[in-house]
Amino acid sequence: MFNASQGDSSLVKSVQNFLRNQNRDPASPVFLTHPDGLETVVKRLEQAIDSDIRRNERVTSVEISDNSIVVKGSQEYQSDAVILCIPAFSAAKILHGSCPNTSNLLAGIQYASMAFITFAFNKGDVSEFNGSGFLVGRDEDLLTTACSWTSEKWAHLKNNDTVFLRLSVGRFDDTEALDMEDDTLIEKLKGELATLTGIKANPIATRVTRWPYSFPQYELGHGEKVNAIRQQVASEMPGMFLAGSPFKGIGLSACIRDGIDQARKAKNFLMQR
Ligand SMILES: Cc1cc2nc3c(=O)[nH]c(=O)nc-3n(C[C@H](O)[C@H](O)[C@H](O)COP(=O)(O)OP(=O)(O)OC[C@H]3O[C@@H](n4cnc5c(N)ncnc54)[C@H](O)[C@@H]3O)c2cc1C
Repeated sequence: MFNASQGDSSLVKSVQNFLRNQNRDPASPVFLTHPDGLETVVKRLEQAIDSDIRRNERVTSVEISDNSIVVKGSQEYQSDAVILCIPAFSAAKILHGSCPNTSNLLAGIQYASMAFITFAFNKGDVSEFNGSGFLVGRDEDLLTTACSWTSEKWAHLKNNDTVFLRLSVGRFDDTEALDMEDDTLIEKLKGELATLTGIKANPIATRVTRWPYSFPQYELGHGEKVNAIRQQVASEMPGMFLAGSPFKGIGLSACIRDGIDQARKAKNFLMQR
């Protein structure tokens, strides 16, 4: 932000110029999806991994034994290297006994619970919108934190009859929206949507989807925290690597980049053994 603010006397213009000059690869967007649902990506990955995949097994601890790593669930698995791709609070629990310092640092990554409220409207009831959505600041004093103009954002959801909008609620340290019953939440958000967009029509369908403890919070100093976690785990349990949304970004593209990065580190580790 400091670098971004140096170009122009107007902060907004300066940040806009900075972003324009980043030459971000449009083929590498912040958010990705798949027209047939994200499950398709997981299924394709499973096909590509030529190995034994165990599903639906909760890992309860990971320990060092005889110079190898033992992953404990309903069975025990012995391994030379492990990549944990789970939420920070789960990793903190699993590593509590064997890597106490790493576990403490991981437990310091906070999570926000959130919910999506999806509205479907008749196309005729909604004005054209040129964009993929908008964010709503905390000082607006609304429950809505973001609105995704889903049928504009994802080409496969664009159609001639229906407009889909997805409102997000839930902030770290604020459970007001999450504490509401579905019907109350929908009514409240219909009002907020009217304020934010002018849409006053009744939706033809609504759906509330709740995601407890799903959004890791990248607080000030997060980068240093991540470096410290990775240094600590390398010293407490050589061969253990951590990847996924708690570390380098929440979008799938960031998670995939981090996964590839950590997989390379694991490979190097194995080659040096
Ligand atoms: C509601 C929602 C919508 C999103 N939409 C998008 C989107 O459209 N596009 C986009 O790019 N990003 C999106 N994101 C972000 C993205 O989906 C996540 O950041 C990403 O999936 C995180 O990947 P991950 O591998 O780190 O963890 P996860 O996908 O959370 O996977 C972790 C897995 O570990 C398992 N697990 C946890 N503890 C244990 C244990 N003890 N033993 C065994 N398994 C365990 C969990 O069950 C889970 O399956 C969305 C996120 C949310 C919450």
